[in-house]
Amino acid sequence: MSKRDYYEILGVTKNASADEIKKSYRKSAMQFHPDRNPGNKEAEAKFKEATEAYEVLKDDQKKAAYNQYGHQAFGQGGGRGGASQGQGQGSDGFDFNDIFSNFSDIFSDFGGAQNRQTKKRSSAQHGSDVRYNLEISLEEAFRGVAEKISFTIPSTCEICYGSGGQNGDRPTDCPTCRGAGKVRAQQGFFIVERTCSTCAGAGQIIKNPCKSCGGQGRVNKEKTLSVKIPAGVEEGNRIRLTGEGEAGARGGAAGDLYVYISIRKHQFFTRKGDDIQFEMPLKFTVAALGGVIEIPTIDGTKANLKIPEGSQSSDVLRLKSKGMSVINSGGRRGDMYVKINIETPVKLSNEERELLMKLDKLMSNKSSNPKSESFFKKVTDLFN
Ligand SMILES: [Zn+2]
Ligand SMILES: [Zn+2]
Repeated sequence: MSKRDYYEILGVTKNASADEIKKSYRKSAMQFHPDRNPGNKEAEAKFKEATEAYEVLKDDQKKAAYNQYGHQAFGQGGGRGGASQGQGQGSDGFDFNDIFSNFSDIFSDFGGAQNRQTKKRSSAQHGSDVRYNLEISLEEAFRGVAEKISFTIPSTCEICYGSGGQNGDRPTDCPTCRGAGKVRAQQGFFIVERTCSTCAGAGQIIKNPCKSCGGQGRVNKEKTLSVKIPAGVEEGNRIRLTGEGEAGARGGAAGDLYVYISIRKHQFFTRKGDDIQFEMPLKFTVAALGGVIEIPTIDGTKANLKIPEGSQSSDVLRLKSKGMSVINSGGRRGDMYVKINIETPVKLSNEERELLMKLDKLMSNKSSNPKSESFFKKVTDLFN
């Protein structure tokens, strides 16, 4: 088998820049690397071939010699004379340790691990934040409430005080990785970092795990908390209880608990920001004559609502400061808006009927119902 041209192996021209050569080599090396092609002799041969070509072409002096003399230039010393480069002998005289030093800059994402500082790791884990959904009534949202909530959550083990070790023993550095959480191993021509299997990457181990929590430092526990919900709280508001989330593992800090508020729909009141909307049926006589009526409010008391004479259906009346509490305002309240639905009487008695007919006659020549009068006048004009 004759030796292939180095430029051809790397797929570059004689004029290729150092950068192009490096890029091209990197590509084939990645493709044919033995780690990626386990047991593939052909790939291994190609990898070695490319590496050999790169060794020469990246070096200006060797490259010049190769350009002038071809493979003959390296017939001595390197032991890679054309004739001896037969199949199965690919590694003869090929000093991989020598080229190994180049890998870190070429394979920065993979061979460079050898230069990386290995930091000491702690096995402590921060506890997760937890969400709790809490539904309250509109009245509760109005006045604020201290709500008791109960839930099951990973909590600090009381036997080992969260250390995970029997008698509260602290974890010690893993003897395999000496606390790094990773081990380095030679793999083919590379040094690779792997997660330490002794400590599963934690860097620390517990010699005698706590029997109660199995070394986790936390156990599931039922927890009851009182959540203070401020007056005026709104749908979707969340209340954060620092440190009330999941306990950290092995001495890590606890997460937070977030209580998400949702507010039940009320039978009569509709919230609109800080205001309350309220729809109310009203006798047509009261609407016509005016008066004062009592209505319920969100604070549980009754309020007097003044109905002006001649009120119409869909009129909206405002009761100042009878709406929702404004959050963090020190007692300020929004307004209450009352929408009137005038009710036409049904199931009339004979007397009522007579009176209404009398009233109807009485009203027929007067402007008591200006809208109806003008409306029917316009319709009549239209047909004339
Ligand atoms: Zn424990
Ligand atoms: Zn380890």
